[in-house]
Amino acid sequence: MIAPVPAFVLASSLFISSSVSSVSSVINLFAQAPDEVTRLLQEYVRIDTSNPPGDTRAAADFLAGVLEREGIRVTRYESEPGKAIVYGRLKATVSPPAGKALVLLHHMDVVPADRAQWKTDPFAPVVRDNALWGRGAFDMKGQAVSQLMAFLMLKRQRVPLARDVILLAEPDEEVGGATGARWMIANHYAELDPEYVIDEGGFGSREMFAPGKLVYGISVAEKKIVWLKIRAEGVAGHGSQPIEQNANDHLVNALQRLLAEPPGARTVPAKDSIVEIMRTRVGTLAQNKFTNAIQRSTISLTWFKSGVGDPPKINVIPSVAEAGLDCRVLPGTTRDQWIADVRRRLGDPPLKIDVVNESDDPIVTSQDSALYRNLEAAIIRRHPDAVVTPMLIPYGTDSNAFRPKGVKSYGIFPAIVPADVVSQMHGDAERVPLDAVAEAAQVLFDALRATLEPK
Ligand SMILES: [Zn+2]
Repeated sequence: MIAPVPAFVLASSLFISSSVSSVSSVINLFAQAPDEVTRLLQEYVRIDTSNPPGDTRAAADFLAGVLEREGIRVTRYESEPGKAIVYGRLKATVSPPAGKALVLLHHMDVVPADRAQWKTDPFAPVVRDNALWGRGAFDMKGQAVSQLMAFLMLKRQRVPLARDVILLAEPDEEVGGATGARWMIANHYAELDPEYVIDEGGFGSREMFAPGKLVYGISVAEKKIVWLKIRAEGVAGHGSQPIEQNANDHLVNALQRLLAEPPGARTVPAKDSIVEIMRTRVGTLAQNKFTNAIQRSTISLTWFKSGVGDPPKINVIPSVAEAGLDCRVLPGTTRDQWIADVRRRLGDPPLKIDVVNESDDPIVTSQDSALYRNLEAAIIRRHPDAVVTPMLIPYGTDSNAFRPKGVKSYGIFPAIVPADVVSQMHGDAERVPLDAVAEAAQVLFDALRATLEPK
């Protein structure tokens, strides 16, 4: 285990290879970084961007203010009233640029907070145990501040840029991104047209991926969302006289068969699948709900609807019973293949299966790229004992909207995040360690500089 290195030491070592004349000013800038991180994050979390309603105008004002104070030109868009988008761009210093732009992407919206469950005020962030507590501290305003700091450092240090860098802050990710990432892609793609996107998704952990092993997972793909409604239709009747055509019985028995089969038992991951690459790099994976979810297609039974009347009559057999299944499917399995498998496992052909929602078929970004290698190198320089691996993530992000355009999209918060912080992502004790945000800023800066500097 490597002891944490103070930020100012990282700051100076970061610039040893840089020009000597700039070293003193650089050290000062990074020495102040922890305070700046705390201040920016506090201000950002204080702005309530709960979605719904997901109003991001005040957050956009805040970010635009920070960028403009540094002399960075900001363009604002509004996809719908209240759905503000911030776009800041650093132009390449060489002409013509050596390649397409790199986008630092984050979402400004957060999931709602149930104040009754929170011990602190979710929108009056407090610093305790060197962590900042509040809604969005980890997902993803803390990650956003690390991106923002790295972006500002490129400007402050006048790092020569072989291509443009864009900081893009969007609304609406927490409800699907229709008026955020997807709107920008549909309406303003020419202003983006990136080769790379850095987004949320992966992170570093000493316990989540493999016990006692420091692993950084860089997300290169996500699972496909397939939300299904299962409907059984039978015959209504008096509860005193059980009948064969009871819709509830049919539904419950079929679900029992579906869930009894171990999840993904029939799915053998391909040799070149991300799961197999990850196992090769990491070795035996830890056993927890996160690693379980990234190794197989999964089903969560999330709701039942049945009964006649409200409250439902206990002596009436209903003619209809329904259940909701949140299915998350590994890349490579299509919707139709998945539904056929669910139907087989239910073992009751008359049951109706409706698709309530599905995400695009996931596309896997190759890890064979300069940015991926530079992220890996920047992480290893700080933590020589770390294993860096491409990873699949079980949840959805805005990256899934960029990958179909051929964009290499990597989801990474390059810092070590304790498991209990990860598990509180949408919880009522959400927080982020402040040194993780500062370290992620430095790792991102390092990887960006290596990727962007003219060769
Ligand atoms: Zn998020």
